[in-house]
Amino acid sequence: MPKVYNWQIGREMDYWYEESRPRRQAAAVFDTNKCIACQTCTVACKTTWTSGKGQEYMYWNNVETKPWGSYPMGWDVNILKMLGPQRWSLEGERYVYRGKTIFEAAAQSERVLGYLPSDLDYAYPNRGEDETNEIVVEEKFYLRMPHDLWFFYLPRICNHCTYPACLASCPRLSIYKRPEDGIVLVDQARCRGYRECVQACPYKKVFYNHVTRISEKCVLCYPAVEKGIWPRCMRTCIGKIRMFGYLNTPEKADPENPLDFLVHVKKVGLPLLPQLGLEPNIYYIPPIHVGNINFLRMLFGPGVDQAIQTYNKAIAGRDLELVAALLLNVSTDRIMTKFKVIGSSEVAGYDENGHEVVRIPLKEPAVVRPFYDERLQVYRHNIT
Ligand code: SF4
Ligand code: SF4
Repeated sequence: MPKVYNWQIGREMDYWYEESRPRRQAAAVFDTNKCIACQTCTVACKTTWTSGKGQEYMYWNNVETKPWGSYPMGWDVNILKMLGPQRWSLEGERYVYRGKTIFEAAAQSERVLGYLPSDLDYAYPNRGEDETNEIVVEEKFYLRMPHDLWFFYLPRICNHCTYPACLASCPRLSIYKRPEDGIVLVDQARCRGYRECVQACPYKKVFYNHVTRISEKCVLCYPAVEKGIWPRCMRTCIGKIRMFGYLNTPEKADPENPLDFLVHVKKVGLPLLPQLGLEPNIYYIPPIHVGNINFLRMLFGPGVDQAIQTYNKAIAGRDLELVAALLLNVSTDRIMTKFKVIGSSEVAGYDENGHEVVRIPLKEPAVVRPFYDERLQVYRHNIT
C-alpha cells in the first residue's frame, strides 16, 4: 500500500491510494460545550435530504450523548475494540500515534478493518440520551468542577475525511473526494450496493438504502457550499456551536482563517478518534466539565488537556481573539475565510472576496430595566 502523511497522527501511514489532497478542504469545528441536544441540526438534515423511501432510519446528522449514546449502537466501542491497543508517544514537541490505524490493522484479504452493523443497531438513535457516566450517587456526593457525574453531547456528521475509509473500500470506484473542496460523495449511478463502504466507515456515516439498493451519505450540502453558504445542519444550529469553512494543512495555516485559527493556532478544535487514521475534517472543542480526562483523550487524542486549558483561559477573559473567533459561530451563514478583531470591542468576518459578511460586538450590551416603569405604569418581572 502507498505511504501517505497524516498530520493528525504525526506520521506516515498506509492507505489504499496515493496522497491526493483537495485544492481546499471543507471543514468545521463543533464546540461541544455549547451543544444543547435540541436536535435542530438533525431535523434540518432529515427534512432536507433523507425524507424519502428507504431513508426512514437514516440520520446523516445525529447528536448522541456520551458516554452511553451511540448511533448505530456501539459504533465507537466496536471499532476501538477491534483495533486493539492504541498508543501515543510524545516525540520532541509533538505526539505521534504508534498504534495501528484501521488501514494498517486490516486483514490481508481486506482493505480496511471494519464491520457491518445489524439492522437493529440503527433502531435506537437516542439510546443513552441524557444518561450520566455513573448511576450511583455516593454518600456525601456534592457538585464540583469538573463534575464527577457528567455527560456531554456529540453532534456527528460525515467527516469528509482526507483518507476516507469508505472511498478506499469501494471496489466499484463509486466514491470520490472532490478536488475543489474535499467533499466526499457517492456516485449513485456507479454504486451497486455492495455495502463495503458501510462496513469500512468507522464512524458509520454511509447508509444503505434498501429500496434503491445503493449507498448514500452526507453531501455536506454541496449545492449551498458552492454558493458560499453553510450546510443546513450548521446554519440552523440553535446552540451556535458550529464554525464552517476551509481548513489548511498545519504548515500552511493562516491565523486569520477562523478554522485554521481554532484548529492549528489555538489547537482547541480536535479530530474525533484520530487514531483510526482517516484525518477526519470535523473538529471538536472538548467539553471542559468532564471528570474523566482519559475518556476524552480516547475520543479526541492527546491534545485534549491543552485544548481545555486554552478554552478555560478564553472564558476567563484572558484570550480576546479566541473569544472573538468563537463568537463568530453561526453568526452568519456565509462562508468566512478571514476574521479580524476590530479594536477591542468588535469582531468581523470576511468572505473569500474580502467582503465583510458579519460584524458583531465582543460583549453583548446588557440593558437593565427598572422593576417599575413610571412612563407606562407597569411592573416588569423580567428586569434584565
Ligand atoms: S466519515 Fe465515513 S463516510 Fe464520511 S468520508 Fe469518512 S469514511 Fe467516508
Ligand atoms: S442544532 Fe446545534 S445545539 Fe442543537 S443539537 Fe444540533 S449541534 Fe447541538
